Amino acid sequence: MTFAPRHIGPDPDAQTQMLKAIGYASLDALMDAAIPEVIRWHGTLALPDAATEEEAIAELREIAGRNTVTTSMIGLGYYGTFTPAVIRRNVLENPAWYTAYTPYQPEISQGRLEALLNFQTMVTDLTGLATANASMLDEGTAVAEAMTLARRSSRSKSNVYVVDADTLPQTLAVLRTRAEPLGIELVLADLDAGDALPAEFFGLHLQYPGASGAVRDHAALAVAAHEAGALVTVAADLLALTLLRAPGEIGADIAAGTTQRFGVPLGFGGPHAGYLAVRSGLERSLPGRLVGVSKDADGAPAYRLALQTREQHIRRERATSNICTAQVLLAVMASMYAVYHGPAGLRAIAERVHGRALALAGGLAAAGVEVAHERFFDTVTAVVPGRAASVVEAAAGSGIDLRLVDADRVSVSCDETTTAAHVEAVLAAFGAAGAEPAASGLREFARTSEFMTHPVFRSHHSETAMLRYLRKLSDRDYALDRGMIPLGSCTMKLNATTEMEPVSWPEFAEIHPYAPASRTAGYEALVAQLEGWLAEITGYDAVSVQPNAGSQGELAGLLAIRGYHRSRGEAHRDVCLIPSSAHGTNAASAVMAGMRVVVVACDENGNVDLSDLAAKIGKHREALAAIMVTYPSTHGVYEKGIAELCGQVHDAGGQVYVDGANLNALVGFARPGKFGADVSHLNLHKTFCIPHGGGGPGVGPVAVRAHLAEFLPGDPLEPGDHHAVSAAAHGSAGILPISWAYLRMMGPDGLAQATSVAVLAANYVAARLREHYPVLYAGNEGLVAHECILDLRPITKATGVSVDDVAKRLIDYGFHAPTMSFPVAGTLMVEPTESEDLAELDRFCAAMIAIKGEIDRVAAGEWPRDDNPLRHAPHTAAAVTADEWSHAYPRSLAGFPAGVDRTSKYWPPVRRIDGAYGDRNLVCSCPAPEAFED
Ligand SMILES: *Cc1c(COP(=O)(O)O)cnc(C)c1O
Repeated sequence: MTFAPRHIGPDPDAQTQMLKAIGYASLDALMDAAIPEVIRWHGTLALPDAATEEEAIAELREIAGRNTVTTSMIGLGYYGTFTPAVIRRNVLENPAWYTAYTPYQPEISQGRLEALLNFQTMVTDLTGLATANASMLDEGTAVAEAMTLARRSSRSKSNVYVVDADTLPQTLAVLRTRAEPLGIELVLADLDAGDALPAEFFGLHLQYPGASGAVRDHAALAVAAHEAGALVTVAADLLALTLLRAPGEIGADIAAGTTQRFGVPLGFGGPHAGYLAVRSGLERSLPGRLVGVSKDADGAPAYRLALQTREQHIRRERATSNICTAQVLLAVMASMYAVYHGPAGLRAIAERVHGRALALAGGLAAAGVEVAHERFFDTVTAVVPGRAASVVEAAAGSGIDLRLVDADRVSVSCDETTTAAHVEAVLAAFGAAGAEPAASGLREFARTSEFMTHPVFRSHHSETAMLRYLRKLSDRDYALDRGMIPLGSCTMKLNATTEMEPVSWPEFAEIHPYAPASRTAGYEALVAQLEGWLAEITGYDAVSVQPNAGSQGELAGLLAIRGYHRSRGEAHRDVCLIPSSAHGTNAASAVMAGMRVVVVACDENGNVDLSDLAAKIGKHREALAAIMVTYPSTHGVYEKGIAELCGQVHDAGGQVYVDGANLNALVGFARPGKFGADVSHLNLHKTFCIPHGGGGPGVGPVAVRAHLAEFLPGDPLEPGDHHAVSAAAHGSAGILPISWAYLRMMGPDGLAQATSVAVLAANYVAARLREHYPVLYAGNEGLVAHECILDLRPITKATGVSVDDVAKRLIDYGFHAPTMSFPVAGTLMVEPTESEDLAELDRFCAAMIAIKGEIDRVAAGEWPRDDNPLRHAPHTAAAVTADEWSHAYPRSLAGFPAGVDRTSKYWPPVRRIDGAYGDRNLVCSCPAPEAFED
């Protein structure tokens, strides 16, 4: 059977009924009316016709078969690891974890918030620093954030960042990309050669252990850096830190890196969770999401995201980072790996890895091969003048990939999966006789401090205990496996199982990002095909899937614009126009790309105010670099003025960036690359079915017209003048099969149908709710695009019932709230997507209407403003079954409002959470268990 009817919720009968409700005779008639003719495209996408699920899997098997799984000992920050099967099946492959949204509604996210708090605790303990955030994108971008954090926090006025020459080369490439537009000067320092530190610098970056494997004593350097007023940033390997002195103990202010080797598959580069940790005093400047402990309405401990005022949505162009979607699912996996193994288990793994490296080094030395460093953890660099290539080739012949450093040096990295036989095979490639024990050089670096002492890291070491812990946490959360998540702008649609399955195949999961090209033909074919399909869909000429999230795609796109202007001798063009309704990442990305943000007003209909646009263009004509607009707008409307907008900006010499987060309203009907835009990013984790994972992973491809193609990001390890926004050439390649499968199974007709039904569903919800809540903004014939904004401000004014109250009351009705207060404060933005069937849409509408009925009773004075089911929502099972009940409304209404199935009710584990309390009393690691006692 074809896949489209599995993906699209409403069947033809339901579609007819919905069309009738909004007064259109057919989907075509609806789309003709909704989409302005100026952008409408009437062609058919040149994509292969839809494959069935079985056919798509067979094709993917064939593609995967062109990748060769080998034993990778390349290292460079990516290592073989055993994903415990209990974690693979119950986290990575479990929709309760992977279909959850970012935990902005903390009452329904306590499970993943606890997992992330474990992650933060693991990172702070291992790094010896005070506070860690809940994940970064990859090591390269995490170090780039460490650099800018050091810049903001240093008292030095210098713009020099000194970087250890033994830094991972891909990290260096990302640092170069990020430093240049901000005017930061990178100065490489060869620490072995004793390079002196410059007189002035704001930060010193160290790799620990170095890319070569060398473990160096950085303590004296850290002292010198602090004397110069600089901050010390350290990229540290967490597994090594179980044996080595922690960065916090050698003077680091900031640590950054990856948690990949904690059970997260290689995936040809990602997705993996980066980490970022800071010493005390810097926590309020930390970018990314931070989980903290607070309390709920009953005073019980509860988790929620802390210090949200730091996010780009609030700070916009004053934001210090553009990171939005991060790597939650992978952070959960890494934290569970630590929970499963515990501190002793991790140390045993590290000792085994170190033992293999020692056996290798001993064997090399016995054979007279020079080993470059006396002190190493897992990586041995051998000096073999003129022979390096032949050694690498010989090892490849026995199925082991090594790192060719240069003509004279080879690096070999051991990991959890390295066996004695691997070591023997590598030694044979060097012509050495066999392994020999060697003495460890790490004694003087030995870690003496304890880590991961919290009981959570010693309570779940049996598989039974682990399985139940995972189940307990996921049961606390609301994800797409329970019901609809109607989040405007976020496109929470079906993540089909067939799309997900290939992610765990070894031929995709176990490929090192820098494996020789001869091993990765399958991936190269998949990436090329997917990029081609995305180009066809968007009407652009070239696409790069390298960016690890939409925010990174924005940066890559703006850097392409910057590169283009510079190539034409117009480096002075640095103004980026951004409408007031834009997503917060837009402004933050523009600043990171070295641009000045100028805000353009919206008119009373929510559209970009074309006369203000003309005024702003007039004022900044000479300096105009770009405009960044979202289409359809963040207000959920197909703006008619888009073509004129593009024309005005182009006439003034600017480029047009269309934020493609809302592409689900365009696929098959309009193509940004053809209606006037020059560049877009897409969010594969929105439109193209990569699950949100509880707040990541994501993929944010950047798509450009031909004149910008030469400015797309390139391979961080290939020399050239391209930039790199991720540490791996194809970013989070490991999850690209998901979007590939979606496109392959939908085909051109299925995709166009999905768009139409998404628009139909939004208009159906708007039509059903309009008489209960005003719907803000509409386009042609009063139609919205794929989402609609419900205006609660008049209700709040009249009754005191807030958008928060409605969002929390929806939990009692068994729903995840829509997007709150974006793009308009005091509103809810509903995006039903094409995947929700009519019964679920009706259940949602009925809940919203019933809630309006409750609001009316508050308005009528029947319930006090401070004692009604809205104000006290959500209600826990404990609250409604308490022996005492003193509220003005009955328990049954609290717990089982109209339409709730009493036999399968979702109970939130905590009541409404007091976020401000937690921000005043910041706690961002696991609280002692006593905190949870009554
Ligand atoms: C989601 C979103 C972004 C940011 O994308 P991430 O993948 O979260 O970085 C940017 N713009 C809009 C309109 C969005 O909805």
